[in-house]
Amino acid sequence: MKRVIIVGAGVIGLLLAKRLARDGIDTTVYESKRRVSDNAAKASGIFSKDGLSRLDVGWRGALVTTLNGATIFAGGESFRVETAGDKAYVLERGKFVELCAKEACEAGAGIVLGKRLPKEQILEMKKDANNIIVGADGAVSMVASAVGFPPIGEHILTYKAEYEGAQVPDPHRVELFFSNKIAKRFFGWTVPYSRTKMEVGIGISSLSKKTSTAAFNEFLESTFIKNHISSAKKTAGYASIIPLNARKKTVIDNVLLVGDAAGQVKATTGGGIIFGAACAGVAAGAIIENVRNGAPLLSYEKMWRKRFGLDLKMHRMLHGYYSRMGDRGFAIAIKAAKLAGFEQFFSKYGDMDKPSLMMKRFFLRGMSK
Ligand SMILES: Cc1cc2nc3c(=O)[nH]c(=O)nc-3n(C[C@H](O)[C@H](O)[C@H](O)COP(=O)(O)OP(=O)(O)OC[C@H]3O[C@@H](n4cnc5c(N)ncnc54)[C@H](O)[C@@H]3O)c2cc1C
Repeated sequence: MKRVIIVGAGVIGLLLAKRLARDGIDTTVYESKRRVSDNAAKASGIFSKDGLSRLDVGWRGALVTTLNGATIFAGGESFRVETAGDKAYVLERGKFVELCAKEACEAGAGIVLGKRLPKEQILEMKKDANNIIVGADGAVSMVASAVGFPPIGEHILTYKAEYEGAQVPDPHRVELFFSNKIAKRFFGWTVPYSRTKMEVGIGISSLSKKTSTAAFNEFLESTFIKNHISSAKKTAGYASIIPLNARKKTVIDNVLLVGDAAGQVKATTGGGIIFGAACAGVAAGAIIENVRNGAPLLSYEKMWRKRFGLDLKMHRMLHGYYSRMGDRGFAIAIKAAKLAGFEQFFSKYGDMDKPSLMMKRFFLRGMSK
């Protein structure tokens, strides 16, 4: 009888475990931390409303605030997107992952906490053809390196901090900042939690010569951020990492990679949950077919690339394009986009997860004019 071993109890590993266990597949998740939430606060918790509704998790217990707009600042210009209703949510990541774990357990999956599977044990498990091993162990995947998956190449190094007593300009609006003056591929953000609590964060290329904390400290010096947090108290700060590319291979023999371990992340925003979860759904289908009918696990690779590969590539292309622009280039691009009516277009059709859908609408709109 086949069994599934998932390495990593992040959101993606847990969603996969729930789906498999619900279908009667023998599933165990191994997590190196003592609590599933121990790793979670390093990331932000912005999710599109549509994306979240597709996740099949009772997430409401983790809701912090709703979002209906974003302002992008670059090269001294700003670009404002405003939606008619709530477009996205901010969730508390620790609570969210706990909800995912609860649902995985209720579905019948086993979760072993405080157990870091060493490389040798993974390779030993791989030898048994009755085992299906899933690396859901994040951006620096030990499963991927142990089994010999192709590397990711470039990552985004992040630092985020939380502030209490802040001057939050709008509790339903995120702010994004771009400037290559601070570091290669630099972007910064603020996320509101309430009228007085907010998160400030930055990301830079792992190929940059700066550390993420140095870039963060520089970002704090900008007038925008200074105004927000001049009298605020920093309550937490975390460094982390986001993969910038999908791996060239995500299945080798009886081993699969999902989520950040596979690099299934939007390069534009670093958002990985909605894509990762959709890919985990594809992985679940392939695993169930393999256990029941002996179908090849390789169908996972083909299927997730077919369904989501184009959007991931578009995010990557977009990221590559704007991260090469200097501040002057940003200013010109923003001015031109405003003149062309893109603020209104994004406000109406903006889709955080599916730029391909947005482009399709753009071309249809253009033709109908
Ligand atoms: C600063 C920042 C902000 C972000 N903001 C957003 C956002 O707003 N929206 C969004 O959708 N995404 C966001 N992301 C990305 C998102 O957090 C990731 O895509 C998501 O967490 C990936 O989930 P995962 O389950 O694949 O991996 P992870 O969440 O990294 O979970 C991997 C788990 O595996 C465990 N593990 C690692 N190695 C081992 C081992 N050898 N044995 C056992 N366990 C192991 C880890 O402890 C961890 O619990 C952000 C990321 C960062 C860094």
